Amino acid sequence: MPELEELKEENKRLTQELKQKVFESSILYDISHNISYTLGYDDLLRLMMDSLHKIVDYDVCTSLILPDENKEAKMLMRLAHPVSQATVDEIQTKVIDALAALRGSKIPRQDIAFDIKGEARNDSPDRIKSSFDVPLFVRNRPVGILNVSSIKDIEYSDGDTKLLYTLASQAQLAIERLQAVLLAEKSKMRAMVEGMSEGVVMFDEKDQLIIFSAAAKEMLGYDLLLLGNLQEVKKKPRNMHKLDIPLEKPYPRVIHSEGICIEEEEGRSLGTIFLLRDVTKECEIDQMKSDFVSIVSHELRTPLAAMKGAVDNLMDGVCGELNNTQKECIILTQRNINRLSRLISDLLDISRIEAGKIQLNKQAAAISPIIEEVLYFFKDVALHKNVKLSAVFDEGLHRVDIDPDKITQVVTNLLSNAMKFTPKGGEISIKVSIADGYLKVSIKDTGIGIPHQDLDRVFNKFYQVDHGDINIQRKGTGLGLPICRGIIEKHGGRAWVESELGRGSTFSFTLPVIKE
Ligand code: ADP
Repeated sequence: MPELEELKEENKRLTQELKQKVFESSILYDISHNISYTLGYDDLLRLMMDSLHKIVDYDVCTSLILPDENKEAKMLMRLAHPVSQATVDEIQTKVIDALAALRGSKIPRQDIAFDIKGEARNDSPDRIKSSFDVPLFVRNRPVGILNVSSIKDIEYSDGDTKLLYTLASQAQLAIERLQAVLLAEKSKMRAMVEGMSEGVVMFDEKDQLIIFSAAAKEMLGYDLLLLGNLQEVKKKPRNMHKLDIPLEKPYPRVIHSEGICIEEEEGRSLGTIFLLRDVTKECEIDQMKSDFVSIVSHELRTPLAAMKGAVDNLMDGVCGELNNTQKECIILTQRNINRLSRLISDLLDISRIEAGKIQLNKQAAAISPIIEEVLYFFKDVALHKNVKLSAVFDEGLHRVDIDPDKITQVVTNLLSNAMKFTPKGGEISIKVSIADGYLKVSIKDTGIGIPHQDLDRVFNKFYQVDHGDINIQRKGTGLGLPICRGIIEKHGGRAWVESELGRGSTFSFTLPVIKE
């Protein structure tokens, strides 16, 4: 019979060995298939711990990992069977103390992020009957502890301990490989970032500086405070925060910064990144352009006024009676002089707006008389073109603090555009309402519409949408909308457009209301 006993023993041992081998290779398979940039130490341990119960009978499996001083310590716990909260606490303390002793430095509990799966009971404490720790090393440095504990009367065999050591050493190898991959990626990224002419500054999720490229250091002169408040950027993730930073030292220049907070899909912040560009040349050219426009327009105004006077005199017969052909010539000249003077006043307006020199003669005023007046002005054109013109005003409209002339200019411009781009038989309706402390004016037409990609560009200087043949008859200056937006923004409001090609456009603007 002893032979049978021996055979049984041998069989048990072989089965155990086989199970271990299968488990080891399946873990290795999982690890090698999951290794990626996102796989960190804790993912690796989680992977191991979630499968470990298949081979070692435990109640609680715990790991604590602290890859380096700058990283957060992470404790993973898997409760295969319910144990008391006191036991959970006891194991945690034991594991923390073990790693602290191994590293020779304290690990404060509040610095550890816990990930616990399984229920703890709130009744009397149990006694841990068996438990053992396996240290994890990476390049001979202790980085973690893996602990297996049980409250049952099990004696862990040499085989169990050996298996855990084998797994731990495999994990260590995987971690080392992972570190090598990360390091190689990091140095690739660093080389790329350093090779860029733009400056790059990046902070991690805890606002620790992780990238400050040489170009960025040169542009900011090492002064990160120039980037503004990091929290402001984080408040509106996915929104680009643009900022022009004028610098006097070591020589005058302007640095354009674009900051964005990057988030994971679940909304967790991954960090904040800033791209910096020296825009001194662009700013200088812009300034020169504005100065040029402003000077030229002033210079053109005087001779144009003289021409207008002379042509008006001719028309009034001051220089003798004109025949019909001569009159037609004069009318054509007058029309073109008017166009030129409109263009010049638009150019002057836009250069004043851009230089921030636009003056507002503000007063508390109601909006309805302004709109009624502009509608009256367009009455005949609308009748002639068979375009239905209407306006609705919400009840109880507040007064607004505005420069009535400038707002008249805005409404006239928007209505003139609507009229220009709405074919015969169409409709233009104005709606005035109050929303969120703002008065909102919308001018809706049933005209040709604006393609989606041009929606924001129509507010750029000189931008005109390519409407095909229609353009030729309706050629303007491309300055009306930027002037409107400039005037509205100076009032503290906002101007925008919504449109559907072929169906019509709605231009809207808001003005802050006076609290009465
Ligand atoms: P202008 O009308 O003098 O060309 P604007 O700045 O007022 O300049 O308008 C810019 C461009 O926006 C126009 O050329 C036109 O292509 C487009 N646009 C403006 N209003 C409308 C509208 N109501 N419907 C369709 N396109 C419009």
